[in-house]
Amino acid sequence: MENWRKEEKDFFDLHVHSHYSRDCKSNPKSIIKEAERRGLSGLAITDHNTTDFHYKVRIETDLLIIPGIEVSTNKGHIIGLGIKNTIPKRLSIEETIETILEFGGEAIVPHPFDITRKGIGKRIFKLEKIFVETQNGSCWLQYFNNRAKNFARRKNFPETGGSDSHRIQDVGMAYTVCPKGIESIDDLLESIRKRKTKGEGAHLSLPEKFIRAFQIHL
Ligand SMILES: [Zn+2]
Ligand SMILES: [Zn+2]
Repeated sequence: MENWRKEEKDFFDLHVHSHYSRDCKSNPKSIIKEAERRGLSGLAITDHNTTDFHYKVRIETDLLIIPGIEVSTNKGHIIGLGIKNTIPKRLSIEETIETILEFGGEAIVPHPFDITRKGIGKRIFKLEKIFVETQNGSCWLQYFNNRAKNFARRKNFPETGGSDSHRIQDVGMAYTVCPKGIESIDDLLESIRKRKTKGEGAHLSLPEKFIRAFQIHL
């Protein structure tokens, strides 16, 4: 990780939860501190079904903070990237994506093939106008991420990566790698749309998943 800055790349964790998600206790200040410590250029806070973070939190930082939301559709999770709007729960996948696009955001399909964590699975095969999360730090099998990578590359969908962190120490575990020079949210979205990005990084092991489950819910 110390080597990140040596390369001509920018690193963004585009899937981070804060204590505005019911299943997460991460304090916003600690999230930002950890992201700075890891050398990220920015991060997207994508809480479950709420964008409260983006209205209530004001923190001095040089990091690019990208608004977002992880929506529970009636068939799994979809992330709205670049929007502060709340999207109703339990709409269909297609309605959710349409609503995100109407608000001017982009729709990411997170952990699509992780059947243990509300991935939308094969339903992704019918979708268009999506970004695919090809590295999710909370998938306990890299197999799920590899399927997403193969799918996105075969179909030429834009790629993102994110930690899906629910604990401070997991922030930045997985990330979106971009060519250096991203200075705004528009730059970032454009870089992803132009397929200049990749999802990379690590993921939690199965024992860590168990430990995390206790840390979150105790
Ligand atoms: Zn999810
Ligand atoms: Zn998530």
